[in-house]
Amino acid sequence: MEQYDLAVIGSGPGGYVAAIRAAQLGYKTALIEKYATLGGTCTNVGCIPTKALLDSTHHYHDALHKFSTHGIETGPVHLNFTQLNKRKNEVVLKNTQGLDYLIKKNKITRIQGTGSFKDNATLQVTGNDGTITTLKATKYIIATGSKPATIPGVTIDKKRIITSTEALSLPAQPKTLVIIGGGVIGVEMAAVFSRIGTTVTILEYADQIIPTMDRELGSTLKKILEKEGVNIHLQQAVYKAENLGESAKVWYKNKAGEEQEVSADYVLVAVGRKPYVQGLGLENTGVKLSPAGTILTNKDLETAVPGIFAIGDVIGGAMLAHKAEEEAMYVVEKMHGHAHQIKYDCIPGVVYTWPEVASVGATEEELRHDGIPYRVGKFPFSANARARAGMDTDGFVKVLIDTKYGEILGAHVIGARAADLIAQAIAGKTFEITADEMSKAFYPHPTYAEVMKEAYVIGSGRPSVNI
Ligand code: FAD
Ligand code: NAD
Repeated sequence: MEQYDLAVIGSGPGGYVAAIRAAQLGYKTALIEKYATLGGTCTNVGCIPTKALLDSTHHYHDALHKFSTHGIETGPVHLNFTQLNKRKNEVVLKNTQGLDYLIKKNKITRIQGTGSFKDNATLQVTGNDGTITTLKATKYIIATGSKPATIPGVTIDKKRIITSTEALSLPAQPKTLVIIGGGVIGVEMAAVFSRIGTTVTILEYADQIIPTMDRELGSTLKKILEKEGVNIHLQQAVYKAENLGESAKVWYKNKAGEEQEVSADYVLVAVGRKPYVQGLGLENTGVKLSPAGTILTNKDLETAVPGIFAIGDVIGGAMLAHKAEEEAMYVVEKMHGHAHQIKYDCIPGVVYTWPEVASVGATEEELRHDGIPYRVGKFPFSANARARAGMDTDGFVKVLIDTKYGEILGAHVIGARAADLIAQAIAGKTFEITADEMSKAFYPHPTYAEVMKEAYVIGSGRPSVNI
């Protein structure tokens, strides 16, 4: 039986980062993944393919609606749905091949199959062909991620009642699509399909879309998506869905209890994700689960069994690739004696619609709820020269600033390139730089980043010279 220093179960952003870092530090490492490709949810059916489709459909939308204003005259513009998906698959392939290379280069033993604990120290890996490999490792990291959740009355059949995974590879462009859930997956998928002409309806339970983000972001994004033709119904409780063969139907109730129904080619269930622990054999170990099914860990991300760690989606919290990656680095470097702090209050959230939405830190609603005094620095993209040149004037930056020390409590952006703009606010918040200090750095002109600068200027109590 092969003995390793570290065995990592799951090859998503948590697992592959942990395995590569451990190998770099000299540990004899095994990486166990049940699928033939590495990269987990993020690379295969999450972050990467969605962003590929969002980028392609953004270009298509611009060709239809913006090119002529720029003076670019084309013939009729058509969408080739097969090519759209082919390119997306190629992007995914490039990324999974990159991972294959890194795993080989770092001399990590890759084992394909489902890892299942036999006891606290032994793992059995069953390959798709039934081959069994048994191994022992001094330390284990569980990074098995998450799977789509559903709601009572809605059974995902992957045919007409689907998840984001199937939505990424539909055989033909749907004419109609109903999305249950107006969270991150819901609005990103709504953007992809509405841009190419699918009639999209979002049914959201809460009183706003992307309800965990600052309220103003959700209300602004709702208006923009509605302008692009997405039907958004808030405060709707879906209680039933049925596959009708060539279509699917959803039954739901509004706040007043009035019953309604809607049919579409597909119903996409996007109501959150649940930790994935099936088949891991945790019952043979002392690892404990929370009532929600997440693996319980201490602050060092170690489970109830010394030497077995867990990271990423499977332990809950923000189910984001960069959170899984940071946890991977933390566990492996801590194992090696480095101290490293994860600042959970500085995890950014991004929605890759257009305009993009990005956030870090506390929302206004949270600060009000907690009675924390704050100042607001807010600046619109419409007053920015670069945004006007690019015809991307929707949105604003809002920074929430501590009244005593001037630190950034939260930064919320909806606007062009928000996903990239939020990076400097994250650095500011992480290293406790004040908004006044942030405003005094150089910002190249003309750039979208100047919207951030103006928000810091205003939030520091000085007038902007730009409005
Ligand atoms: P995963 O990536 O889920 O990887 C877990 C791996 O473990 C899988 O490959 C699985 O096959 C394997 N596994 C499970 N059990 C076993 C077992 N017993 N034996 C062997 N292997 C096993 N996050 C972002 O930050 N940005 C985004 O833009 C973004 N977009 C997303 C879009 C979609 C549509 C979805 C669904 C998610 C998106 N996410 C995004 C979330 C992101 O994908 C996850 O947070 C991230 O993948 C979690 O990483 P992980 O390593 O914890 O688990
Ligand atoms: P989510 O938690 O973001 O959104 C789920 C939505 O469904 C919420 O708005 C919720 O109010 C709604 N909902 C719940 N029950 C409902 C019901 N009965 N009827 C109608 N609506 C209901 O989850 P998601 O969008 O499924 O995404 C799953 C995970 O994947 C998230 O943790 C997210 O962070 C991650 N993800 C991230 C990105 C990104 O970073 N850009 C993209 C996609 C997914």
